[in-house]
Amino acid sequence: MDDLTRASLAQAIREGGSGNADIVGDLKTNFARLADARFSLCTASGTAALICALWAVGVRPGDAVAVSALGPAMTGLAITAVGARPLFLDATRPTSFGISPNSAQRSLAEGPKAALLIPMWGYWDEQPDTLETFHSNGVPIVVDAAQAPFLRLGAGLCHIADIVCLSLHARKPFKAGEGGVCLTNHRHLADRIVQLRNFGQTTSWTGNRLTPTGPFATGFGVNFKINSLGAAWCLTQTRECDRMRERFIRLRHRATQLLDSTGIGWIEADQAPTVVEHGRYGIVAVCANERDASNLATVVGGTGVEVDSSRYRYRPMYHAPHLARYATSCPTAEQLTARSVACRLEAFGPLDSTVDAGHDATERARP
Ligand SMILES: *Cc1c(COP(=O)(O)O)cnc(C)c1O
Repeated sequence: MDDLTRASLAQAIREGGSGNADIVGDLKTNFARLADARFSLCTASGTAALICALWAVGVRPGDAVAVSALGPAMTGLAITAVGARPLFLDATRPTSFGISPNSAQRSLAEGPKAALLIPMWGYWDEQPDTLETFHSNGVPIVVDAAQAPFLRLGAGLCHIADIVCLSLHARKPFKAGEGGVCLTNHRHLADRIVQLRNFGQTTSWTGNRLTPTGPFATGFGVNFKINSLGAAWCLTQTRECDRMRERFIRLRHRATQLLDSTGIGWIEADQAPTVVEHGRYGIVAVCANERDASNLATVVGGTGVEVDSSRYRYRPMYHAPHLARYATSCPTAEQLTARSVACRLEAFGPLDSTVDAGHDATERARP
């Protein structure tokens, strides 16, 4: 363990380890800076961040929430955790994680209280029409960027979304063990997030931080705070973002080399022209047909790399039994998952010295 992490962990223990510790404030500040957001609130998990975000934008039991069917079951479970029901949105093309403007438009008939967009594996491909459909109808947008902490758009994600959520789970790029972050530019939303997270406390702005003050249960709230030992571990990572970024660029290079070496044709999933930086969680190779995808998964899996199918079969989330009762047909999303192979970039590590030693780190041009 490096000295910086050891010192941060010692500080977290000295401060008592709770989510109110000063060191959590340092982590918040770093995420606010990274995401160019006014408010950054740490939570117990990515799931807790999503629940806080949905609650903050006004989702209540019985409400509908429009959500990309291509998200993982975890996202759907966060919707049902607040007592709401998912309205599944189809993908726009079999090569895109962006939702189709038509399916966004159709969802309005059900009066969704929020739209949950998910840059899966780090890929953002939402079309201006889709965003405009929700904006102009007063539907708040929450982005579940659990798989895209590095995602940067020209305008900044918090300018498009009311709230952006991250996960700091051990399998995500930034790791606290368990943890999450809500990012927003809106004070009233930040207040509601803190209220739900901190036993219903109200907040005050002290210098550069939103602090829970006042009595408990002023409003509804529970304990969704992060453990500051995890926050201390994560703090080092946020201080070394450039090194992390370089590591993910090397892993991605290794992944594309391996995929190319199979001789099976693939193209990368689409990204919007506004994407300045990929989310850096995974790589998605879309093949010409299901058979190619299955062969590609077998060859890549045979090299010891974990592909989506080895842990769980990646499919639209309504295939999960708990979410099946809300299922609507999303044929394009089905095609995408059947024809693609998705892997976490970290599945291509640890790096050996040959890969680490000065290869060309430029990113593969988009097909
Ligand atoms: C991991 C993940 C979650 C859940 O985050 P936790 O920190 O494990 O609660 C939610 N949504 C997406 C897209 C994820 O990848």
